[in-house]
Amino acid sequence: MARVYNFSAGPSVLPESVLKKAASELVEYGTSGQSVMEMSHRSKEYGAIIEGCEALLREVMHIPDNYKVLFLQGGASSQFAMLPLNLMNGSGKADFVITGQWAKKAYDEASRYGDCNVVASSKDKTFSYIPKLDPATFTKDADYFHICLNNTIYGTRYTRLPETGNVPLVADVSSCILSEPIDVTQFGVLYAGAQKNMAPAGLTVVIIREDLIGHARDITPTMFNYQIHADNGSMYNTPPCYSIYMAKLVLEWIRDEVGGLERMKERNEKKAAILYDFLDQSKLFQGTVVKEDRSIMNVPFVTGNEALDGKFVKEAAAAGLVNLKGHRTVGGMRASIYNAMPVEGVEKLVAFMKDFEANNAE
Ligand SMILES: *Cc1c(COP(=O)(O)O)cnc(C)c1O
Repeated sequence: MARVYNFSAGPSVLPESVLKKAASELVEYGTSGQSVMEMSHRSKEYGAIIEGCEALLREVMHIPDNYKVLFLQGGASSQFAMLPLNLMNGSGKADFVITGQWAKKAYDEASRYGDCNVVASSKDKTFSYIPKLDPATFTKDADYFHICLNNTIYGTRYTRLPETGNVPLVADVSSCILSEPIDVTQFGVLYAGAQKNMAPAGLTVVIIREDLIGHARDITPTMFNYQIHADNGSMYNTPPCYSIYMAKLVLEWIRDEVGGLERMKERNEKKAAILYDFLDQSKLFQGTVVKEDRSIMNVPFVTGNEALDGKFVKEAAAAGLVNLKGHRTVGGMRASIYNAMPVEGVEKLVAFMKDFEANNAE
């Protein structure tokens, strides 16, 4: 078996030990005589899996008791609508910071339901930075304030949170959940599609403060009402059973093999530093993001020459370093170095970049 180093932005690399564990249990889970994929979601065995997954997530992320954890479907993209339907119930206003395509989509969707205000945007420079925010410009009576904590496509991340006072801060954490400790109490809602850093596609995790549940608009489809899912332990209908099982294995890996989120953060910072240190002294490659806002999960870079970028992506793939093509709106390359990317993968990438630079010098 020859596994590649997979730098895909999502769905993305999973820890090899997790895949092996899943493989060992694929046909028969425990002594159940069946695969997790075949089980009733209401069975005793499956009950232990979903409850175990929630307990682990609470333990690893230190989620306080006054927050509910919901395991949903529909992707982070469904949250763009679920949030306004459930939260825009006071003034009907919400604030948004536009730091990329996902933040913009959250804004566009919410605009269908209420009065949405763009507090700041970094569109002027292809979203290569996080705008400086002035709380004096925030909407005082907004029902929520939305940010995308890590911008998967553009490779930026917040290092300081906006001070929103009593307005609930809502964050899309699809591409940074579990990458480092996060103070859940700073947020009203955290949500993530699982396929970047947690599990295979199909699962969406919502962590929501209890007082924000139960105020959905009358028109809210039943399946889009947080209360329905909270009241039914994420079992109002069939949850994404197998992805939840995989998320449980990933959480066990983080807790038991990595040693928790502080350790995870150290590993991720180390990986990111290897790549950024190289980019900062390279004569051929440049990072596209301002230094202070650089993501430790998604690292876009360019040579400034499209043909050379294409050559790099092709030759890297041939060398077992795959999915390095950048997003079409940025061009160039992007290395997504999520939790499951080993340090050696980043070291191999940098070694390859050095060789490529030497072989393609003017
Ligand atoms: C991938 C991604 C999304 C979209 O997620 P889906 O689960 O495909 O809907 C939204 N926001 C961010 C930050 C992402 O990285």
